[in-house]
Amino acid sequence: MRFASLGSGSQGNGLVVGAGSTCILVDCGFSTDETERRLARLGLAPGDLAGLFVTHEHGDHADGTLPFARRHGLRAWMTHGTARELAADASDVTIIDSHTPFAIGDLEVRPFPVPHDAREPVQLVVSDGAARLGILTDVGTPTRHIAALVLECNYDSDMLACGPYPQWLKARIGGPLGHLANAAAAEILATIDRSRLQHVIAAHLSQTNNLPRLATAALSGVLGCAQDEIAVADQANGFDWRSL
Ligand SMILES: [Zn+2]
Ligand SMILES: [Zn+2]
Repeated sequence: MRFASLGSGSQGNGLVVGAGSTCILVDCGFSTDETERRLARLGLAPGDLAGLFVTHEHGDHADGTLPFARRHGLRAWMTHGTARELAADASDVTIIDSHTPFAIGDLEVRPFPVPHDAREPVQLVVSDGAARLGILTDVGTPTRHIAALVLECNYDSDMLACGPYPQWLKARIGGPLGHLANAAAAEILATIDRSRLQHVIAAHLSQTNNLPRLATAALSGVLGCAQDEIAVADQANGFDWRSL
């Protein structure tokens, strides 16, 4: 199994995961042209994708999904609540249950519901039968035995508190249905089984309320590793292919 990021942050997210002959795009918060450009950077054409998985309707995850899927004749998988919020056409979409694993080609996708201020948000673990990749952005819950983890580190609590955002927005981001602080991400990392963990990537960093070095310090502190062993998925470049 291999995976790479098109970009990560409040301006747009997209993660490609592939195994065998199957490759899927998890979330697409970029315009169709921009998505094509970012896929090409990773050596992928839209036709290489088996479809799209959409975690929730927020624009930074979903804005590009339906236009991209329509242009390229691709199917999109999402919960009923997400489809409703996106006003998705039933012919473009396969509705999933937020507790039931399903297959897309050679990949098993295991969604799970998460507390986040969207209609029916899920996060997911993707497996090829041998390795498991956990994707926890926009809040996550602990999962076991994963080999790679893309973990939201949205904000540093002090930077958010002292930063320029209005009070209501600070409350939303820092609230129980908002985003994960670096310290909360570190807590999640501390509770999972890390015995098979090979890759940890900090994702969805706020460009206003966080710094890469603060996120990697929080996660490397839990792992007892060097700070530069934690990768950061950034807004412009995401990250390059990694293999499991
Ligand atoms: Zn969201
Ligand atoms: Zn988001």
